[in-house]
Amino acid sequence: MKRKEPMRFIDPHIHCISRTTDDYEALAAAGVVAVIEPAFWQGQPRTEAGSFKDYFAMLVGWERFRASQFGIRHYCAIGLNSKEANNPKLAEAVIDMLPLFLGKEGVVALGEIGYDDQTEIEDKYFRVQLELAKEVDLPVMVHTPHRDKKQGTTRSMDVIEEHGIAPGRVVIDHNNEETVQEVLDRGFWAAFTIYPKTKMGNERMVEVVKKFGTERIIVDSSADWGVSDPLAVPKTARLMLERGITPKDVETVTYSNALAAYGQSGQIKEEHWADAPGIDQRDLFAGNSVLRGQDPRVGGGIIE
Ligand SMILES: [Zn+2]
Repeated sequence: MKRKEPMRFIDPHIHCISRTTDDYEALAAAGVVAVIEPAFWQGQPRTEAGSFKDYFAMLVGWERFRASQFGIRHYCAIGLNSKEANNPKLAEAVIDMLPLFLGKEGVVALGEIGYDDQTEIEDKYFRVQLELAKEVDLPVMVHTPHRDKKQGTTRSMDVIEEHGIAPGRVVIDHNNEETVQEVLDRGFWAAFTIYPKTKMGNERMVEVVKKFGTERIIVDSSADWGVSDPLAVPKTARLMLERGITPKDVETVTYSNALAAYGQSGQIKEEHWADAPGIDQRDLFAGNSVLRGQDPRVGGGIIE
């Protein structure tokens, strides 16, 4: 399908520190203008609280800079993930350091938090962090469990309501056809992660939009260190257009809704990319560059 204006996208859930500069270049070429990187676990559990501190500092610091060097605006969500909440000694220390990071520039939500195995201790730290989100007045990004998803999703929303957080301030992520109706009925944002082969594929996402419409529906990649596709958002958009969904509706679920949901933080705004100066890879972050001795790109060209 030909359009005069190139489409632009936001991927509101992607773990960029696990991705390469090739991915950033591909994202920018595909029209992704901004990404949101929620704090999560790293494939193996951290053993020291200090590892979280450096990780959070990287999300608000180096990674934000690294993305900018490839023309992508980078935002993040800060929180204690459900999996590592199961280590009580670490969990307490991480909770204590969260307020320091939640107030940093570019932090658009508290997240991703919620349930993994739905243990008692996960429940405890989910609730502690919901209270913290109220205190710092940030939206919340909720990770729903991959096992017992339906029940875990319902339980997450019950707990959020119990803590008096407005559903319009909360994005429930990793939905599927089984969970979406209830999430929408209860007034929450419903995000869908597009996995390359299993779980939600992009064909299924087309059907979800055809059936449920576009209101409060958000598409993301959740690309990380595992088998995943950082281009899931633009690829799904393309398939939607091919299947007859209007460009306006595609834009709603791959751009505007994410901006509206996380824009409630006051930290992510369209003018950040609309009025942004071009790329200048001569820039440094704390004295360090992304170039590794290569020629810098400035604007569209390469300076030799
Ligand atoms: Zn994630």
